Amino acid sequence: MPLHRGHEKPDERPLSVNPFYGEANPAVEMAEAPPKHRLAEAPLTPTTAYQLVHDELMLDGNSRLNLATFVTTWMEPQAGTLMGECRDKNMIDKDEYPRTAELERRCVAMLADLWNAPDPSAAIGCSTTGSSEACMLAGMALKRRWAGGPPRSSRHWGNNEDRRPARDVRPNLVMGVNVQVCWEKFCNFWEVEARRVPMEGSRFHLDPQAAAELCDENTIGVVGILGSTYDGSYEPVADLCAALDALQERTGLDVPVHVDGASGGMIAPFLDEDLVWDFRLSRVASINTSGHKYGLVYPGVGWALWRDKEALPEELVFRVDYLGGDMPTFALNFSRPGAQVVAQYYTFLRLGREGYRLVQQATRDVARHLAERIEALGDFRLLTRGDQLPAFAFTTAPDVTSYDVFDVSRRLRESGWLVPAYTFPPNREDLSVLRVVCRNGFSADLAELFAEDLARLLPGLRRQPHPLTRDKRAATGFHH
Ligand SMILES: *Cc1c(COP(=O)(O)O)cnc(C)c1O
Repeated sequence: MPLHRGHEKPDERPLSVNPFYGEANPAVEMAEAPPKHRLAEAPLTPTTAYQLVHDELMLDGNSRLNLATFVTTWMEPQAGTLMGECRDKNMIDKDEYPRTAELERRCVAMLADLWNAPDPSAAIGCSTTGSSEACMLAGMALKRRWAGGPPRSSRHWGNNEDRRPARDVRPNLVMGVNVQVCWEKFCNFWEVEARRVPMEGSRFHLDPQAAAELCDENTIGVVGILGSTYDGSYEPVADLCAALDALQERTGLDVPVHVDGASGGMIAPFLDEDLVWDFRLSRVASINTSGHKYGLVYPGVGWALWRDKEALPEELVFRVDYLGGDMPTFALNFSRPGAQVVAQYYTFLRLGREGYRLVQQATRDVARHLAERIEALGDFRLLTRGDQLPAFAFTTAPDVTSYDVFDVSRRLRESGWLVPAYTFPPNREDLSVLRVVCRNGFSADLAELFAEDLARLLPGLRRQPHPLTRDKRAATGFHH
């Protein structure tokens, strides 16, 4: 959330309002608009309050036209009904809502199976508000495991003897420079040094060898991303594990891997079954995904899973009452809505493996065709083609000098499309791109309309004397 500040100007609003704002007898209803930045003295009728809030929200964008976000913007009405039925259920009250707790447990079991945990009954996991919280929990587990291990190279996971003194050294976490901002938050909040592998040439994500070289005895883990938010590419998780195996052989350092599968954790199991990135790799200690991205649920739900209880130190686990006994929990929040977890279970039940495969394949097909359409326009160069995450990044062709990606982003907004433009991190700060994220609900028809709108803008853009967007940040919107 942005950290909001209070309102600076006095907030008296002696506006008279239209009698339609009132109910049956407008004369006794509102004569003045209520203040917006402090509580009014008197209540309003629900109808009036509803109308005021509803009207203001009309100016929000249309979420289905937002090609910047990975987050689900369409669900079936039945899912909406279930969520409405569960909006009063607090996820933490396991004792009061044992069935909701059971549905969460089943979702974890399904994900453990989907991600090939060697022993799904040994895998442990939980729901979260999203991948950010899941990554915080996974990072905390890595850090605590590192702190609990013996000093230097003979470290064995889960060994609590010979504890490392808490303050002697600073732990570090190795990752690509392309990580999502939640990893920067983790490192900042939990005082872990972020060691970032830069981009180089046409490699826009982590290099396994370079990652292994950044590791030392204070490395709590390496993060692999499936896939990168910058361009939709999968990071080479198996190669990363192999590089860390070789490191262990050379030095004895045993560095675990966390896979941030915020998006790809729900794409790869259905569309890239031969890709080995998950618990099949013994070095992968934990995985997260966003249920509200390609898990196909409205925000906010995420999932964090650990291979086994060695990967999640017991002392991080808290217990809450549950049917006369207690239930282990691991979370940052205490109270949290249960509706999204129920909606996740509904979607798992509704689609099954084949349903997910069909939905994700349709989304990938849309992404690939749209990428090709854009390439065929001639003005753009594709960096990725939508064949990993159903998202792709593109930039202007070398001979395009009259406009840049920020102009394209700004002009697309005129037709309602939100497509972010942004500059890559080190060492490719010279490169600025546009990114299109395709989601369930962004149909082939909508993609066609988008391609037509983009094509229609080109003649005007080509006639510009030079790139025009001065306020680059205003043009782009968020891209994570
Ligand atoms: C979206 C994303 C996150 C953050 O997930 P939220 O569910 O939005 O909190 C973390 N990592 C990656 C790779 C992402 O794509």
